[in-house]
Amino acid sequence: MDLFEYQARDLFEKHGVPVLAAAIATTPDQAEAAARAIGGKVVVKAQVKVGGRGKAGGVKLALDSASAREHASAILGMDIKGHEVRTVMIAAAAPIESEYYLAILLDRSNRTFLVMASVAGGMDIEEVAHTAPEKLAKIPVSAVDGISVAKAKEIVSAAQFPHDVADQVSDVLLKLWELFQSEDATLVEVNPLVKTTDGTIIALDGKITLDDNAQFRQPDHASLIDHAATNALEAAAAQKDLNYVKLDGQVGIIGNGAGLVMSTLDVVAYAGKKYGGIRPANFLDIGGGASAQVMADGLSIILGDADVKSVFVNVFGGITSCDAVATGIVQALELLGPKATKPIVVRLDGNNVVAGRAILAQAAHPLIEQAQTMDGAANRAAELATK
Ligand code: GDP
Ligand code: MN
Repeated sequence: MDLFEYQARDLFEKHGVPVLAAAIATTPDQAEAAARAIGGKVVVKAQVKVGGRGKAGGVKLALDSASAREHASAILGMDIKGHEVRTVMIAAAAPIESEYYLAILLDRSNRTFLVMASVAGGMDIEEVAHTAPEKLAKIPVSAVDGISVAKAKEIVSAAQFPHDVADQVSDVLLKLWELFQSEDATLVEVNPLVKTTDGTIIALDGKITLDDNAQFRQPDHASLIDHAATNALEAAAAQKDLNYVKLDGQVGIIGNGAGLVMSTLDVVAYAGKKYGGIRPANFLDIGGGASAQVMADGLSIILGDADVKSVFVNVFGGITSCDAVATGIVQALELLGPKATKPIVVRLDGNNVVAGRAILAQAAHPLIEQAQTMDGAANRAAELATK
């Protein structure tokens, strides 16, 4: 899960990383009040989960609360790279002398953590990495040793931070590492980390990605979820513990096992080319023990998707045999009743396939069509989606 800047700022504060006073606002009135409470010059910042807000006009300096209000009303509702601004952060403005870059991230390809640090911060770090790679220090950090005081000093000198800020930057690194570990983050980035005109180091913009696999031991992180941005179907599926991802096509997909479902997406996209670019509408893995209830939950999510024109159920019977799956499908359609309205192509194979196909044939449900092969089923489902 990626966090908004204001959420990252709050985690910085919680872990002792220096930040400035800030508050969020969703209306110009709130923005004005927040600016007045902070006092003096403030920065009005669009809260969207995308970089380069500054260049897109989403970060504005305001000299007083009246101008903070004006900036907020211009920024709220703005579209930044496809993200609508629903919230702004009002933060005390910092008199900047220098802008630096610091990040700790999970380096998957090298199976380690990595610190990236640069005294050329503020702008696009990708640009720095490209045009002046010598200005971006990359230092591996082992999961066992982490960032010690000595390691922090090594990083500070490798990135050539000026002497007058070395101790402060070291201290920020230790705190960022503590945050990274204890919050189960996979990315903590500060850009810019600034030196103000009076020589103080402050984290001015933050980006944090939390590891969703650690959710079970981070109950506090539930409050950071942006429910407004979660797709309604995905939220309903999550409630039912289904592995569902909404896609942008027309053929609803249900399968058992992530590998089978992924290859099903491929064959449907391939077959769909013949029918003017028909594509899969979702990923849904109902897992191994597909009961009638799980099948009904899955079908009901997919049939509730207005984009879906046909459904492809692709099941390979294993521990749960094809006859159990077929019974599940028939019962699911009974459970759904008139809510089931779209044609469903079923391809069963594997354990007890003959009995499974016989159960579906006998039920003779008007929406169900059986196919013998995966390619044949994909082709038929794509064809039905055009009707
Ligand atoms: P981003 O463009 O989405 O990365 O947003 P940032 O928060 O990094 O802001 C972009 C730029 O705006 C920074 O690099 C600074 O140059 C400038 N900026 C942000 N906050 C302040 C501030 O408090 N004071 C001043 N003077 N400039 C700021
Ligand atoms: Mn930034």
